[in-house]
Amino acid sequence: MKSGGEASAKLLRRKRVGVPVIAVTGGKGGTGKTTVAVNLAVGLSMKGSKVMLVDADVDCPCCAMLFGAELSNGEEVKTFKPVIDAAKCTGCGKCVAVCHDHALVGLEGQVPSLFEELCSGCKACQLVCEVDAIKSGQKVLGTIYITDSNGIKLVVGELKPTEPRSPIVARATMLRAAEELRKDKYDIVIVDTAPGIHNVVAQALWEADLALAVTEPTPLGAHDLGFMLELTEELGLPAEVILNKADIPGGLKDEVVKTSRDRGVKIVAEIPMDEELLRSYVSGEPLVRKSPKSPSAVALLALVPHIREMFVKGGET
Ligand code: SF4
Ligand code: SF4
Repeated sequence: MKSGGEASAKLLRRKRVGVPVIAVTGGKGGTGKTTVAVNLAVGLSMKGSKVMLVDADVDCPCCAMLFGAELSNGEEVKTFKPVIDAAKCTGCGKCVAVCHDHALVGLEGQVPSLFEELCSGCKACQLVCEVDAIKSGQKVLGTIYITDSNGIKLVVGELKPTEPRSPIVARATMLRAAEELRKDKYDIVIVDTAPGIHNVVAQALWEADLALAVTEPTPLGAHDLGFMLELTEELGLPAEVILNKADIPGGLKDEVVKTSRDRGVKIVAEIPMDEELLRSYVSGEPLVRKSPKSPSAVALLALVPHIREMFVKGGET
């Protein structure tokens, strides 16, 4: 029997876009999920699919770099911040008391001070102020860029440096991508999520039809993969595993195989170590375009018919 938490997690994962969405994710950083996301997007595009690639790894968005794409004309992601009118403030302290983030400080009789970096923009302070002394200000949390590159629509969310509220920017990026999807017809959306299993990742998983969990054959890789597959199971989200750096010397592939098998999830690709990958990073040209015959490109391109068969109408080759 499912717990109430599991049931509500499944309810929350409600699709609002009518296009298949594949989330490329991973329990830990550095496993190569961006490489998979970018090359899968390019591989699908090379086969004639109209693709949108969303970089929702807002703390460290790298898709544009792997494309060699320039980002410009960013749209700011803003949230509410309180602006206190000292002339009106009576120093009652109600706003200080209601602020669960401890972003407002001040003794009774004083005008409170705001610690902007702690403020979540919840507006509770404005609601409790009885003399209307709190006006609506705005603070910038990050930027969203939308561009075309390699025949793909690229939507990139980037958190402002020093700003801790990445889930809000990740969510705004997904919503902005949904807005673009309403303007034009796409066959498929690939989302590069943040690593881990925290709220930033969850923001990118709500809309997904499939999670591709990228891992590597190390004890930490297998361990974190277990957590990721637990999360996708709780969300009721189908998942498949991609084993990157599959031939790493001393690698512990068996542990990844066991973790996947225990969760009833298939390993659908094994990507070998390949110097060509490094060359593609340096050149800013996606591997499957630059060196399509290299071993890792061959493994990545083999994913394309697999995904097309599942999600793209009339396209299994
Ligand atoms: S609730 Fe309003 S009046 Fe009271 S301290 Fe805060 S800003 Fe001043
Ligand atoms: S908006 Fe919310 S978090 Fe920010 S100062 Fe007001 S009560 Fe605190």
